[in-house]
Amino acid sequence: MAVLIKGKDLSTKIVEKIRHEVLNYDKKPTLVVIIVGNNPASQIYVSKKKHTAELTGFNSRVIELEESISQKDLEKQIEILNQDKNVNGILVQIPLPKHINTYNIIEKILPEKDVDGFHPINIGRLAIGLKPYAVSCTPQGIIKLLEENNIEIEGKHAVIIGRSNIVGKPLSYLLLNRNATVTVCHSKTKNLSDVCSQADILVAAVGIPKFVKSEWVKEGAIVIDVGINRMENNKLIGDIDFEEVEKKAGYITPVPGGVGPMTIAMLLSNTLELFKLQNKLEA
Ligand code: NDP
Repeated sequence: MAVLIKGKDLSTKIVEKIRHEVLNYDKKPTLVVIIVGNNPASQIYVSKKKHTAELTGFNSRVIELEESISQKDLEKQIEILNQDKNVNGILVQIPLPKHINTYNIIEKILPEKDVDGFHPINIGRLAIGLKPYAVSCTPQGIIKLLEENNIEIEGKHAVIIGRSNIVGKPLSYLLLNRNATVTVCHSKTKNLSDVCSQADILVAAVGIPKFVKSEWVKEGAIVIDVGINRMENNKLIGDIDFEEVEKKAGYITPVPGGVGPMTIAMLLSNTLELFKLQNKLEA
């Protein structure tokens, strides 16, 4: 039976450490989240981020904008936040409405305030092995989970299913920078189950409930489930067939309580780091 990697426990520890550190500063780190329209899932994520940020002693503001906002007006809003010395981190909740060019919006955020680590400068720095201002939260959370559980990355074959700009690609850079051999799979990958069965570290970031079956998993593999799929009964299910795979894997993350809480902890950690950088405090 696999060892359960409990992201919830580690995230609580990290958030508590951040809360203590923030008590030492005269000013509080400030995180501003922009939400456009009323996507219910986005609203839940944003209110969770705001709530945890406040519990941690941060200033947190949510700017709610109409679904019909123009690209230009949204960019203007970001420009105001870029200029505001009291704002340390800016996060634009995605997905954005279809008429908005998401890449241009992300590019508008100052890299020094890009708390999600999605700006091309931050992704680019990560890709070439330089320190970005911020590393994408979910991939960074996954690395912390591996490190906390003393799982060696170097020399391992890591297979990631999913090549999104927010999970799969940045995670591939983080693992490669730590000397893993990385394979990134996607919807056009042939013989996916065979590729997965070669993984020492298998990460699923697909968005299909119970997509990864136990036959795809090597005995003793480390299995990380990024997927968050809300079922009709409101239950959250990951991309891994947890009940079957946990009998075969060496380590496994649960859903909920695995990668999800780490994403929020990393968001706060990034906000704190950017705050310290901007205020020339010991980073
Ligand atoms: P995207 O939809 O952006 O990407 C999904 C990826 O899965 C794509 O690369 C896609 O391939 C690939 N894919 C889809 N179908 C298949 C298939 N049949 N075989 C192989 N690959 C396939 O998703 P995200 O990366 O944004 O999110 C993935 C999941 O992780 C979602 O459930 C999301 O809710 C969750 N998530 C969880 C977070 C957390 O904090 N735990 C944070 C972010 C996301 P292609 O590129 O070819 O289309």
